[in-house]
Amino acid sequence: AIKPLKNRPSEFSGYVTVRGAREHNLKNIDLSIPRDALVVFTGVSGSGKSSLAFGTLYAEAQRRYLESVSPYARRLFHQMAVPEVDAIEGLPPAVALQQQRGTPTTRSSVGSVSTLSNLVRMLYSRAGDYPPGQPIIYAEAFSPNTAEGACPQCHGLGRIYEVTERSMVPDDSLTIRERAIAAWPTAWGGQNQRDILVTLGYDVDKPWRELSQKDRDWILFTDEQPRVPVYPGYTPEQTKRALKRKEEPNYMGTFSSARRHVFHTFANTNSPLMKKRVMQFMLSTDCPNCQGKRLRPESLAVKFAGYDITELSRLPLKTVATILKPFADGTATGHEKQEAEHPEQTIVAQRIAEDLVARIQVLLDLGLGYLSLERSTPTLSPGELQRLRLATQLYSHLFGVVYVLDEPSAGLHPSDTLALLSALEGLKKAGNSLFIVEHNLDVIRHADWLVDVGPEAGEKGGQILYSGPPEGLQKVKASQTASYLFGQTETPVRKRRRPAGWLRLSGVSRNNLHDIEATFPLGVFTTVTGVSGSGKSSLVSQVLVELVAEHLGHVITIEEEEGAELERAAPLHTAGHIREGMESIKRLVRVDQKPIGRTPRSNMATYTGLFDHVRKLFADTPMAKARRYDAGRFSFNVAKGRCENCLGEGFVMVELLFLPSVYAPCPVCHGARYNAKTLEVTYRDKNIADVLSMTVDAAWKFFDEEPQVYRALTVLREVGLGYLRLGQPATELSGGEAQRIKLATELQKAQRGNTLYILDEPTTGLHPADVEKLLAQLDKLVEAGNTVIVVEHTMRVVAGSDWVIDIGPGAGEEGGKIVVAGTPEEVAKSDKSKTAPFLQQLLH
Ligand code: ADP
Ligand code: ADP
Ligand code: ZN
Ligand code: ZN
Repeated sequence: AIKPLKNRPSEFSGYVTVRGAREHNLKNIDLSIPRDALVVFTGVSGSGKSSLAFGTLYAEAQRRYLESVSPYARRLFHQMAVPEVDAIEGLPPAVALQQQRGTPTTRSSVGSVSTLSNLVRMLYSRAGDYPPGQPIIYAEAFSPNTAEGACPQCHGLGRIYEVTERSMVPDDSLTIRERAIAAWPTAWGGQNQRDILVTLGYDVDKPWRELSQKDRDWILFTDEQPRVPVYPGYTPEQTKRALKRKEEPNYMGTFSSARRHVFHTFANTNSPLMKKRVMQFMLSTDCPNCQGKRLRPESLAVKFAGYDITELSRLPLKTVATILKPFADGTATGHEKQEAEHPEQTIVAQRIAEDLVARIQVLLDLGLGYLSLERSTPTLSPGELQRLRLATQLYSHLFGVVYVLDEPSAGLHPSDTLALLSALEGLKKAGNSLFIVEHNLDVIRHADWLVDVGPEAGEKGGQILYSGPPEGLQKVKASQTASYLFGQTETPVRKRRRPAGWLRLSGVSRNNLHDIEATFPLGVFTTVTGVSGSGKSSLVSQVLVELVAEHLGHVITIEEEEGAELERAAPLHTAGHIREGMESIKRLVRVDQKPIGRTPRSNMATYTGLFDHVRKLFADTPMAKARRYDAGRFSFNVAKGRCENCLGEGFVMVELLFLPSVYAPCPVCHGARYNAKTLEVTYRDKNIADVLSMTVDAAWKFFDEEPQVYRALTVLREVGLGYLRLGQPATELSGGEAQRIKLATELQKAQRGNTLYILDEPTTGLHPADVEKLLAQLDKLVEAGNTVIVVEHTMRVVAGSDWVIDIGPGAGEEGGKIVVAGTPEEVAKSDKSKTAPFLQQLLH
């Protein structure tokens, strides 16, 4: 269905040449790739595509740019990456649009990232309808983030935070000593406040509810901060006597009411964890002054097309474009009258509206029309964020740069892929080069030039198998990409399994889902499809997960990015219940692409539990026994065995005077992480550091006589991670790798059945050959009596599933319904489903 948009250029305007690239696993490679063309890097996961595109080409462009700016400016950037490469010639400046792994650091919205908000504010300032007599206000006054614009009561937050006695003292039968005041800090901080109250003469041993209301209010809400002598460890009687005798106190302590503590911590702490903790004691309501709209009344009084600026910012972009179009082309109702009365305002409105409509159109083309300007970026998927930034680039009119992109098709339904391709085409036409790491076959087919990296992952990859126009790849035997691209690999026809039962949800509401029913088959492999923004994640990753977890009595840990926390302070409207099917579900497991740890202290060996067994093996060696070393000695997180210079990190931070600090291998242990004594202990001639630097494949051979370790390693190999080193820090792993480690950890557990597995786009970052491996594992889970539900865009996966639930038909408010559900064959026949035509192609 997806055809090339335009013939490939017959000649390229020039080439980028790379000599001797050795970053990560790259094998000293030489390469020439065209400029002003769409170049796609392919290869199995871990083969070295990113090491080449991002780690070498982009890093070098970045380094040259930084070298050209002053040392002062350079200091503002983080550590300068210096790629391992002999020479690169012909490289234009580069812009990377990488999928963000981990937390976006700044609080931003669709409007601010796309810079559309600036234009909208200008529109309101210069061309809005003001109430009679109100003077024109500046564009800044339409932003809640400025002093001119922010609602004075809520300071632009839109919500008012309060604490009440109930919220801070959940159990009033407890005494203060028993921590009735839950909002106070735990540990020492709380004891300190209690001891201060003792000095102040409050009864800390009476149940809270028996204290007088006056005392309770003072303790919880006062703004006073008396400073008093503190005698920790004294009883109230002893304290009284000590005070009378004016005995030298242990220290002087400052009282802080519970409210003060909560608000002060909330406003000042840098720790997301602390913030989270105090937030549980705060109640929030819409600000009564601005009704949650965050702006001062004068700003909200200005309307455009009948909407105030907040109302407009909450509409889907698609609707905003429809509202603005008549103003852009001069067909708005009352246009002539308006033009006669306020000619200047009309012209300004038309200019800005034109510009806005054109810019929004790019976002609509990229399938993002369901987003609103106000939507905060932490709630977007990485793929959506990347496309948003891509759209912003499209009208920034840069030329002569290389855009380096990481899987721009992630999260895109096949029906949206053509729009993506035409957006990329637009950047190319403007005179730019595109270097793209991609797995989607439709995008790969569209490339002007392919660079296939392989043949396998890690040490067995890092070579250029092919570099040239796509059709030439067909002849390359070693390429795993070739067989998928040229149709030599058939879509496997699977025997469809029959559902063992049904999980029925009704009254489901969330985001764009309004009171719908949804039925998921049990004991089979289900894929949930639909265009981006149709409601797949809302249904599966949000509502289904929450309802099932609630039923099972799990406490749902909100793992969301910390930035989303505040944005989410407004309660989500979730409704729905499970009508039947829970009898056969005993466990819920989500396998997502979130990192397995945020510090280099966690790695695959620790996460999977495999390292525990390895440490025991070392503790069981004769030398360890003779020296009385236990398993803890072989942990790099424990003082006994680790290198004390780097505290087991293996590297140290070196502060440079005028340059950013850099990490260097620890000079004492040379990166081994352990102290010399520990490293003397060997198991089959290898010390513990040697083991951590083995790849899974090597360790699998090494530990073939140790069933538990061997089993864990076998599963890791089966999910395609044989190339990873056991000790590779969690921070170096990609989302796809983290996900497969989680899956492997799950698979090595004894299979009990009756578990519901939920995965959201597990194929992101995976080469078709890796997808095959993933599917084999998911199949095993189903065979063992479990249920697997996956949100998915890759049609090969959908075609191979037992059951398909297609959501849509469109995005945002045009979606949110179940269009069709059934076997892939049944769904393919639907004339309403946007998925059907793509599925049909694979099923004939
Ligand atoms: P791909 O993009 O093809 O999936 P990568 O370029 O990310 O592959 O990885 C190639 C190899 O380099 C893999 O073995 C990977 O584990 C390793 N690698 C990736 N990032 C790092 C890093 N920061 N430090 C060390 N090794 C890395
Ligand atoms: P899909 O998974 O099919 O791409 P989603 O379930 O993520 O779709 O989104 C469905 C609709 O709900 C979209 O209109 C989207 O903008 C909206 N939406 C999703 N998450 C949020 C959120 N956290 N806040 C506000 N709107 C959201
Ligand atoms: Zn307000
Ligand atoms: Zn060290």
